[in-house]
Amino acid sequence: MACHFGTACAVTLPVLPNTEYKREFGLVAIGSAITLDLDHVLAARSLEVNSWMTMPSRPPTHSVAAMIGLAWLVERIAPGKRLWLAVSLGVGSHLLRDLATGGAPLWHPKRVITWPVSLVAATLLILTASAWFLAGLPIQKRSIIAPKRRLRQIAHRLNTEQSRRAPARTVL
Ligand SMILES: [Zn+2]
Repeated sequence: MACHFGTACAVTLPVLPNTEYKREFGLVAIGSAITLDLDHVLAARSLEVNSWMTMPSRPPTHSVAAMIGLAWLVERIAPGKRLWLAVSLGVGSHLLRDLATGGAPLWHPKRVITWPVSLVAATLLILTASAWFLAGLPIQKRSIIAPKRRLRQIAHRLNTEQSRRAPARTVL
């Protein structure tokens, strides 16, 4: 857990000066990196530390699919603060570290893969640089992950405009 905290800090701290919601971003990035291992408790269905550590492989929630799901969920709960990026950064750093230390089912639940330390280090740098770039982009008022709500807003606006125009047309 301490190792994941260290890796999460290493990727999050350079990104923070570029973010608008620094406190939330930092807490979510580092918090998600640390709490991802709670899936060991769920997968082992036991509160004994030994059973978490002796699992044959890391649970399927140690995957890119879970990372995307968590990022989507956080953006739904607190939209407009780019916290999806914080989750991607935190969980991404956790997964990358696990790839170099025993592997993780990154793409497929039944296929655990491992990466050499050099590849993990290079990808951590790319992840940090990408997050830094994305964090600096201006935040749009609408969330790109909630397009349905946006479509509903547009439909509502069109309806109200139409109903405003409708009486004028009937007079003519
Ligand atoms: Zn892990």
